[in-house]
Amino acid sequence: MKELSHITETFTESVIREMTRISDSLGGYNLSQGFPDFDAPDEIKNEAIKAIKDNLNQYSVTFGEPELRNAISKKALEYNNIKCNPASDITVTCGATEAMLTALMAIINPGDEIIIFEPFYENYGPDGILSGATPRYVTMHPPDWHFDYKELEKAFNNKTKAIIINTPNNPTGKVFTKEEMQFIAGLCQKWDVYAITDEIYEHILYDNCRHISMASLDGMADRTITINSVSKTYSVTGWRVGWAIASKTITSRIRKIHDFMTVGAPTPLQHASAKALLFPQNYYDDLHGKYDNARNFLFNVLKDNGFKPYLPKGSYYITTDVSPLWDKLKASDDFDFSRKLLEKTKVATVPGFSFYSKQGIVTKQVRFAFCKKQETLSKVKELFSEKL
Ligand code: GLN
Repeated sequence: MKELSHITETFTESVIREMTRISDSLGGYNLSQGFPDFDAPDEIKNEAIKAIKDNLNQYSVTFGEPELRNAISKKALEYNNIKCNPASDITVTCGATEAMLTALMAIINPGDEIIIFEPFYENYGPDGILSGATPRYVTMHPPDWHFDYKELEKAFNNKTKAIIINTPNNPTGKVFTKEEMQFIAGLCQKWDVYAITDEIYEHILYDNCRHISMASLDGMADRTITINSVSKTYSVTGWRVGWAIASKTITSRIRKIHDFMTVGAPTPLQHASAKALLFPQNYYDDLHGKYDNARNFLFNVLKDNGFKPYLPKGSYYITTDVSPLWDKLKASDDFDFSRKLLEKTKVATVPGFSFYSKQGIVTKQVRFAFCKKQETLSKVKELFSEKL
């Protein structure tokens, strides 16, 4: 048989999704993959059912139902301070995952470099490879996950085409400050570089942190592709409804790729998503309260059981140093640690190496997702105190 594609040989399957499969096969408490184990809001579930019953079951406009694009545009102006025309500047995609890949494919040519902050959400590695970009990594350092301005400055050069910014950040929980964002914006303008921002955790913030959208900064609207989705804010990660906001010129390229790759996101779920985006403020206040409690609860559970967690400022993840427990679990690498922790306690996590570029790296870090019911988190507390 002839050889299969070389490009797919260069990356592995997602470790995050693999951990969910392993956890399910062992009946574990899944704090690995970032999806809620509680119910999505009834209002939008009912809207989805209604849309199906109203026969909205055929293809939608390929780049998104007008109702949803209008709702995105209104929300972008009110929450993100981004002005965008729903007719020409928005593409609705199958989740933020598709939006990120199409964004890269829309702008990358062979030889182009992209800058990625490390640790990073594992999809960005394969996204870079599939789009043909050469990645350059800039390190974020615990406990606050700051980056060195000089190191970032050095990563920019004439080949740099784009920088990916994920704020609030997965897996670290870092929320990029206004000063950091302005510094990055300055470099993007100096080197004529696009910013691609993954803002999917924009409503999950702690300690009075504020979300800042790159496209709202001076001089950045035309060179930024802003990516988001309904997955995390409305607890519907399986709906696969996301979007990219960009200038008309960039959007016309994104739309072409999206059209031929997926045709469109699910029509009834687009209608329900449009309703979700119009939720009143108290929905977001409740979401914040719930995640604030979950963050503090899990952080204390981890501290009390020998982990050295880094307190997140946003998102629903806690990355923790596990070196104090390394010998106790007789771990040989990050994956081995997560596997043994799962076997011993039934709690699934994501091993740290999957957020780093270097092959074979041992970070002695793991990531916990706390978008889980209080009942689940209480069970984790019980299991850790019994088994660790
Ligand atoms: N963003 C989530 C995580 O990091 C899930 C991503 C996914 O599996 N599509 O766990």
